[in-house]
Amino acid sequence: MKVLVVGAGIAGPTAAFWLNKAGHQVTIVEHAPALRSGGYLVDFWGAGFDVAEKMGIVPQLQRRGYVMTEARAVNRDGRRVASFKPEAVMESVQRYSSLARSDLSAVIYEALGGAAELILGDTVQDLTDDGDRVRVTFESGRTGDFDLVIGADGLHSRVRRLAFGPDEAYERYLGMVVAAFEADRYPERDELVAMMHADIGFQTVRLSLREDATLFLVSLRHDGDAPTDRAAQESLLRAKLSGKGWEVPAILDRMSQAKKFYFDSVSQIRMPSWTTGRVALVGGAAACPSFLAGQGSALAMVEAYTLATELATAGDHREAFSRYQQRLMPLLKSKQRCCSGFGAGVRTQEQVPTFCKEYGDATDGTAQGCRHRDGHELSRCR
Ligand SMILES: Cc1cc2nc3c(=O)[nH]c(=O)nc-3n(C[C@H](O)[C@H](O)[C@H](O)COP(=O)(O)OP(=O)(O)OC[C@H]3O[C@@H](n4cnc5c(N)ncnc54)[C@H](O)[C@@H]3O)c2cc1C
Repeated sequence: MKVLVVGAGIAGPTAAFWLNKAGHQVTIVEHAPALRSGGYLVDFWGAGFDVAEKMGIVPQLQRRGYVMTEARAVNRDGRRVASFKPEAVMESVQRYSSLARSDLSAVIYEALGGAAELILGDTVQDLTDDGDRVRVTFESGRTGDFDLVIGADGLHSRVRRLAFGPDEAYERYLGMVVAAFEADRYPERDELVAMMHADIGFQTVRLSLREDATLFLVSLRHDGDAPTDRAAQESLLRAKLSGKGWEVPAILDRMSQAKKFYFDSVSQIRMPSWTTGRVALVGGAAACPSFLAGQGSALAMVEAYTLATELATAGDHREAFSRYQQRLMPLLKSKQRCCSGFGAGVRTQEQVPTFCKEYGDATDGTAQGCRHRDGHELSRCR
């Protein structure tokens, strides 16, 4: 089959790898003008590691990654208040790596060995599924016919919008935003220790990287719409973190100089179905669990692998799509349930959560009811 994969993050190249192995002709279209570099670190472990092993890429991942020896929480004066060794929760340090999301993506893409066509700086503008094929119009004006389209374009997926409808139906905002940025020669360093400081409504993490670089991750509660331009995003962080302790003022000082600045809302994607006609979604586009789940990249690989292997063994794409969902929907729902009650920093006493009967998770106790947008009744959320 001719398959179009939209997005060259984690799920997209993984799907392309396994589809190519099964003999399909794969094109990847990526909106960014180049494959991304830098960015935040992901803790990569669990079932995603099994998929990586099958792809033969574990040595490359370990070469680029870090094995953290401690996660240490400090108070506003920098004194240790809690600490744990990641190996206590990871199956074994041999099967875990903390690495830049862009490095994980690059290693998966390299494993493809040029077997898929890659179109950079373009995206899909229109999809018309006539039952036999999907006619795709790209933003650049080119067109193409594909047997299948796989949306691997992340949390804010355009494929999802085009094929399934508006984000409001599927996106559940968790009331937080997250920012990540790097600084060179930041004076404080704690090699292989994730330094964390949390207080009411926020958490800051500092990680010392190779070549005297430091990565900062800031997450905070925010009830309004997430700003979209960098100046407004920085202003929001400054306003919310003004007067905070530990190294927060020094970290904010470094923010404007950062060459790369990641900022996004923290949301989950909850859909009753990940496929329609000849279009399927994988990874964050289908079932983003949010960064609070800490396993999104591994799950994205598992989804891409499962979809491709079902396509390789099923009689047709309908059967494959149905088996893909049956196998993974319960797992993804449970991962989402686990973390949807987590918030940044400490909650105030008034914010005692209520529980949603549909998903069994904590919902916002201060709101009148359900924040889930998948259409189930408010009364089931009390
Ligand atoms: C701050 C933070 C920390 C995280 N920590 C962890 C962690 O510790 N462990 C973990 O496993 N996961 C973690 N995650 C989650 C993980 O990053 C995601 O689950 C994973 O990246 C999802 O992979 P994906 O391929 O579905 O989407 P993405 O990685 O988001 O890739 C989507 C790709 O599609 C491209 N794209 C977007 N729109 C279009 C378009 N219209 N057309 C074409 N291309 C498009 C994007 O440029 C991108 O290359 C974290 C996430 C965040 C935000």
